[in-house]
Formats: sequence, C-alpha cells, structure tokens
Amino acid sequence: MISVNRRLVEAKIMENQDYIKNDSAVILEKLKAFKYKNRSLKHDPLIYLNKVINEFESTNFISVSLIDLERIKQDIGSVPNLKKKFNGRKKITSFKDEILSILDYKNKRTVFYPKYFSDLGIKSCVYCNSQLTIVVTEKHQIKNSNPNEYIAKFQLDHYYPKDKYPHLSISLFNLYPVCSSCNLAKSNNENVDFKLYADRVEESKFFFELDNKSKALFLLSRNSSDLRINFKNKFVEDYVDVFKIDEIYKTQYDIAEEIILKSLIYNGSYRKSIVKEFLKHRVNDSLFKRFILGNYTMDSEIHKRPNAKFMQDIGKQVGLI
Ligand SMILES: [Zn+2]
Repeated sequence: MISVNRRLVEAKIMENQDYIKNDSAVILEKLKAFKYKNRSLKHDPLIYLNKVINEFESTNFISVSLIDLERIKQDIGSVPNLKKKFNGRKKITSFKDEILSILDYKNKRTVFYPKYFSDLGIKSCVYCNSQLTIVVTEKHQIKNSNPNEYIAKFQLDHYYPKDKYPHLSISLFNLYPVCSSCNLAKSNNENVDFKLYADRVEESKFFFELDNKSKALFLLSRNSSDLRINFKNKFVEDYVDVFKIDEIYKTQYDIAEEIILKSLIYNGSYRKSIVKEFLKHRVNDSLFKRFILGNYTMDSEIHKRPNAKFMQDIGKQVGLI
C-alpha cells in the first residue's frame, strides 16, 4: 500500500555484502557445473543458460539494482519450457526447477530473508497490510532438521513470477513480503499496479475513508455495523479486486469503533492530564501517539504492524492522531 525507499534496501544490502558475495560465487560455480554436465543442451535453453551465466559474471543477481532488475528481465526473458532427465538426475525434472534449485531460493527463505526483512522493518503484508508475512511450518521439511520442530518463515511474493523468471527468484528487489492469501491471489499476475520499491516514497495511493454520515449514526446507535468505510485508491482499480481489500476490511469495523471511541475519550483535557505520566516513563510524542492509536502512526511505518494503514487513516479522520 506504500512504497519503501530503495536506498533503505541498498543500505541493508551493504550490511549483508559478505553473505551475498559468497553466495553468488557458489551459485555461479553451480550454474557453470550444470552447463558442463548438460553439454547436450541446445537452442533456447542453452541460449537462456548462457545469458544467465554471462549476466551473473558481471551482475550479482541477489543485490541487483532496481534498474538492472528491469533490464535483466527484458534481456534474458522467460525461461524456456523444457522437461527431461538432466544429467545427475534419476527422474524427469523441469529446466525451471533446476535453475531454482541452483539459486537455492528455498534455503534463503529460512536462513537469510527472515533477518533481512525484519531488519528492513517489514512484518506485515505489503499488499493488504492486514496480516503478518510469517508462516510457520514444520522444520522436518527442511534438510537435516529434527521432526516435530517448527520454524517461522517469511512468505514472499515474486513480483516477477519465479515460474517465468527463475533467475530473478533471489533478487531482493523482486521479493515482496506478503501474507499467504495475497500470495495466492497475486500468483503469476504481472499486472498488479503497485511497486514496493521506489526512488522516493510518495504519499500512498490508498486511503480508508470513514463515511461521516455513518459515523454520526454510529455515535447514536453505538453499533459498529452502522459504520461505512470506503477503500479509495487512485489509478489502481484492479488492486482492490485482486486482493479483496473491501472484504478483508469489512471484518475490521470493531477496530474503527475503538478508534472513534478513543477519539472521544482522549480529548484535549484528558490528554494534557496524562502526558506528564507518560513523560515520567520517558515516552516521547511519537510513542505516545502509537500508544493511543494502538499502532504505528507514520506513513513510512505501515509495514511494521498489520492494520497500520487502516488505523492511521481512521485515526487521522477522527482527530485521534
Ligand atoms: Zn495480504
């Protein structure tokens, strides 16, 4: 619902440079070994593999810049459809899966990405903002681990789908932390008009608008079902349809109810009287607002906690923050 400044990503990439450099070197060797073992490859698959290897020699696919990501997508194109018994395999596999396996996206999901995205401050779905981006799975699905243990993994959407562009499956600028519903909804759709990473963060194109008449009705009835909240979005009509934003937030009216009531309770004089108490506990103004809203209050912080965008928009309209 709002972009992340690409410079923040670049700073995190710098912090992880050693891991990225070592991992890329391993991948490049594996790609070359795969080509050597499968010398019979020809035509499109060979052209594709050569392009990937050539590009990998000069550009690191993990930390590839936002501009280079677009260029590589165009230059290399989509992976050719090929299924066969590749050298060293006992059964038939797809060329795409071989590339994905060499790039080792699955392992990075448990080892590298959780800390990386947590450091970046993204913990809620970047599409719907209503759920966490974490899925918990049994650890036994991961190599060399004990059964009956569970692990939290990051759920990631590939903006450019990994089934079509497996070589971009590990590119950090192609990875969008999402909830499982949005991941399923987005699937291989390449036309979702929202880019998470941008040169600068502009005001969100999305807004939850509290219908004033319905608010007046609610204040009389105190029944949250009287509330009406419209999800406004500029230039991105299909977004609401793809991610079922209206349906999701229709279930959250009780949160709006609390925010409206808080705006009545935390009025000017009550606020003044409690500020001293908060200062005593070294709670600054921004934390004070977060405390009252029950969520982060800045546009740039909406990825830190589910429902932040919804709560901020309603909170601002009723004068709570
Ligand atoms: Zn979502």
